[in-house]
Amino acid sequence: MFEVQNQPPPLEPYNLFSSDIVLREAVEREGAGWAKAALVAFGATLGKPETIQLGFDANKFTPQLRTLDRYGHRLDEVDFHPSWHELLRIALKEGLHSSPWADPKPGAHVARAAGTFMLGQIESGVYCPVAMTYGSVPTLRHAPAIAKEWQPRIFSREYDRRFLPSHLKTAALIGMGMTENQGGSDLRTNTTRAERGDGAFRLHGHKWFMSAPMCDAFLVLAQSSKGLSCFLMPRWTSEGERNAIQILRLKDKLGNRSNASSEVEFHGAHAQLVGEEGRGIPTIIEMGNYTRLDCCIGSSGLMRQAVAQAVHHARHRTVFQKKLIDQPLMTNVLADLALEVEAATALTMRLARAYDENDEAAQVIRRVVTPAAKFWICKRTPFVTYEAMEVLGGSGYIEESIMPRLYREAPVNSIWEGSGNIMCLDVFRAIERTPNAVDILWRELGDGKDARLKAFVDGLNKRVAARDRNDESQARVLVREFVLALQAALLINHAPPAVADAFCASRLDGEGGSVFGLLPRGVDLLSIADRAAPAS
Ligand SMILES: Cc1cc2nc3c(=O)[nH]c(=O)nc-3n(C[C@H](O)[C@H](O)[C@H](O)COP(=O)(O)OP(=O)(O)OC[C@H]3O[C@@H](n4cnc5c(N)ncnc54)[C@H](O)[C@@H]3O)c2cc1C
Repeated sequence: MFEVQNQPPPLEPYNLFSSDIVLREAVEREGAGWAKAALVAFGATLGKPETIQLGFDANKFTPQLRTLDRYGHRLDEVDFHPSWHELLRIALKEGLHSSPWADPKPGAHVARAAGTFMLGQIESGVYCPVAMTYGSVPTLRHAPAIAKEWQPRIFSREYDRRFLPSHLKTAALIGMGMTENQGGSDLRTNTTRAERGDGAFRLHGHKWFMSAPMCDAFLVLAQSSKGLSCFLMPRWTSEGERNAIQILRLKDKLGNRSNASSEVEFHGAHAQLVGEEGRGIPTIIEMGNYTRLDCCIGSSGLMRQAVAQAVHHARHRTVFQKKLIDQPLMTNVLADLALEVEAATALTMRLARAYDENDEAAQVIRRVVTPAAKFWICKRTPFVTYEAMEVLGGSGYIEESIMPRLYREAPVNSIWEGSGNIMCLDVFRAIERTPNAVDILWRELGDGKDARLKAFVDGLNKRVAARDRNDESQARVLVREFVLALQAALLINHAPPAVADAFCASRLDGEGGSVFGLLPRGVDLLSIADRAAPAS
C-alpha cells in the first residue's frame, strides 16, 4: 500500500454549537442566551463520531413498508433501521418537537430553532416528524378537547416507538396529509370526503404524499358537507383497532431517504374535526407557518454543514505548496459561501424570534417574512451544497463524505410546504392583506443611515409602488430583493464590518452569489472564510 498523504482528518468529534460563531451570536442576540449550556451539550452530542455515523446508517438502511402479514392481514407498517430510532430519540430528548409549547418562555422558539439547525446538519430525515409535531400544536389548539387529550403525549421528551393506540403510549408524534395527486398547491382541489358519523367523521379518499406514516396521528384535509375541513386522524381508533389507513407504497425519493414518505388511501378512517368545519385551510395553515419556519431552519443548517465541511477541508488540504484556503481564488469561493450561510442563519434566527413575540411587528414579520425567507433560503441551498462539494474535489462526490447526502437533501425544503412560486405569491397576498405591513417591514430594513442599503431599498420601494406589486410575473424579483435587503440590514447591524461590506458589495450591487467566488477586490476574504471554520 502507498502511504496516504495530504488527506484532511474527518471533522469529528466537534461541537456544532461552540464551533459556530454565527449561530452563537444569533442565539444571544435573538433572546435565547439562557439556552447556551443546553445547546453546547447538544452540539457535543451531535458532533460525536457515533452520532454522525447514525446519519449515514439511517440513509443507507432505508425504511421498508410491510403492507400485509404472512397470512394476508393488513399491517400498513414501516420498519426503520435502529439508527433512525436513535436519532429520533436524541431529537425528542432535546424537546425539538415541542419545547416552546411545553415550556413557553421568551426565546423558546429561538432556542429550539438553534437545536433543530444543528440536528438537520447531522440528519435531515428525522427532522420531518419533529417539524410536523412542532407545527401541529397551534392547529390542534383549535379543538381544545383534542389538544387536552394529545398535548401531554406530544410534550413528552420520551420517544415511544411502539405501534399502539395512543392512549397506551407515553409519547406521540403528529404528521400531516394535505397533498393529493391532482394538486398540492391548490388545496381546494382536495377530493377526500369526510362523512359525519356518531360524534366523529369517517374519511374516504387518498393522499399523494404523507410523510412519516408511523406518526401516531395526522392533521388531514377533507371535504365535509360544509367544505374543506381539518381533521385529526389517528393511526388507531379509540376502540383499539387499526384505523382504515392503507399505505400503498413509499416514495422512492431523490434525497431525504432515511424518512418514509407514503401514498395512502383512507377507507372510512376515523377522524375528529379540528377547528371550524369548512375552514380547513386557515386552520391547517397555522401549522404551515411553523413548518415553513422549519424549512428556513433546515436549509440554513444544511448550508452551514456543507460550508463547515468545505472550510475544514480547505484548511487541511495542500495544493500547489499552499493550504487550499490560502489560494486566493479558493479564499474567494469560501468567503462567498460563508456570506450566504451567515445571511441565511441571521435571517432565520431573527424570524424565529418573531415566533417568540406577539406584538404587531412580530405578527407582520411572521406572516410576510416566513414565506419570503423560505423562498430565498431554500432556493440558495442546492447552489451552496453543490459549490461546497466541489471544494472537496473528487472526495466530495463520494458517498463516504456527507456532501452527496447534503446535495440530495438540498431541494426538498423548497418544494415541500409550498413551492417557490407559491411562497412568492403568498408574500404578495400577505402584504396586501396585513395592515401596516409595508411600514413595519421598512422599519425592519433600517434607519437609512447605510447608504448602500438605502439606495437598494429606494429601488425596491419604487418597484413596490409601481405595477410590479400586482404583477405576479415579478413576484420572484421583488421577494428576492426584499430578502436581500433584510439580510443586508441584519449583517450591517450585527456582523463584523468585513462580512457586511462583502455582502452589500456582492448581493446589493452586481451579480454576487449567482456563482460563488465573484467577490470583488478589496474584500477581507480570509477573515470571512475563517469565521466559518468549525473548530475540530
Ligand atoms: C419529500 C416530500 C415530502 C412531502 N411530505 C408531505 C406530507 O407529509 N404531507 C403533505 O401533505 N404533502 C407532502 N409533500 C407534498 C408537497 O407539499 C407538495 O409536493 C407541494 O406542496 C407541491 O404540490 P404538488 O406536488 O401537487 O405540485 P403542484 O401544485 O402541481 O405545483 C407544481 C409547480 O407549480 C407551481 N405553481 C403552482 N401554482 C402556481 C401559480 N399559481 N403560479 C405559478 N406557479 C405555480 C408550484 O410552485 C410548483 O413549482 C411532500 C413532498 C415531498 C417532495
